[in-house]
Amino acid sequence: MINSLVRSNLRNFKPYSSARSLYQKGVFMDANENSLGSVISTEYGSELNLYPDPLSMDLRKALGKFLAIPEKNIFVGSGSDEIIDLLIRLFVEQNEEIIVIEPTYGMYKVAAEVAGVNIKNLLLKPDFQIDIPNLLSEINSKTKIIFLCSPNNPTGTLVNLEDVETICRNFTGIVIVDEAYIEFASKSSFVKEIPNIKNLVVLRTFSKAWGLAGIRVGYAVAQEVLIEYLNKIKLPYNLNRISSGLAVEALKNYQKMLEFRIVILEERKKLAEKLTDLGFKVFPSEANFLLVSYPNASDIAKRLAVNYGIIIRDFNSKPLLKDCVRISVGSPEQNELLIKSLIKIL
Ligand code: PMP
Repeated sequence: MINSLVRSNLRNFKPYSSARSLYQKGVFMDANENSLGSVISTEYGSELNLYPDPLSMDLRKALGKFLAIPEKNIFVGSGSDEIIDLLIRLFVEQNEEIIVIEPTYGMYKVAAEVAGVNIKNLLLKPDFQIDIPNLLSEINSKTKIIFLCSPNNPTGTLVNLEDVETICRNFTGIVIVDEAYIEFASKSSFVKEIPNIKNLVVLRTFSKAWGLAGIRVGYAVAQEVLIEYLNKIKLPYNLNRISSGLAVEALKNYQKMLEFRIVILEERKKLAEKLTDLGFKVFPSEANFLLVSYPNASDIAKRLAVNYGIIIRDFNSKPLLKDCVRISVGSPEQNELLIKSLIKIL
């Protein structure tokens, strides 16, 4: 099934054969690296003079163990952003379309525009849930990918399993569930559904709960055949040695991530209460940010930035989000500073 969805010119595509895809051990005189070494050595990685493993097997194996899913079902990329881009280029022809349900993460549309494919914009319901009958009625023979985001950025809402199952069952294309913020949610990941739902792709990242936005590592979990296609079309060494090494280390520090999670959930609750006390409407959040509304919130965002150096994100111009801003849950000190500054502004 995946084969027939892939862009026709990629079905028998012969990928670039990188030096390290044939032999991973030996005296390397095949890739024109600097065999004398690297001009710097860092505590984060050795053999920086050598190209990394094109398939990032160490990280995929570590993730496989962590997720209890075979590594052949996992693709790793330079942030989930890279994977969003690759998935669109893998599946969607120029005269075909993706569906996004707004308001949601902006990169789905940007990647589709860059690829020159069509975008069908649907709207969430006013309660930020997906209008399933409407979504199903908008699917046509040109629809290749439906992007779902759970918890959704910027609304903070979860997509429920029944809805994902319904969509996947009634659509022969690819359903992507972006779970960048799932570690903060009250429900578990859809990764466990991958063996059951053949057209589902789950995206995860080290950028949020793991505190590693700076190293750019994200991953996709999907059917093996889809992962194989992604490995064929990606750039030869898409993940560098330092990032993949650090991501493997990160997984060993799972407890630390859970500790962060507890603090952020506590802070999210406190911040929501204080903002409510100040008169903001605070939408329920399953992520590490709060979507809030207030009359002329754009103005408040500007004044926070100009007068107090606190940057929040203005969503006023987005559909359904008039007078809404998104505030990332900060450290206890940052949150306190935000509240004090808001009190002065209001
Ligand atoms: N998906 C969502 C929903 C996001 O909000 C973000 C980052 N803002 C990303 C993906 C991108 O994550 P990464 O850093 O892994 O590229």
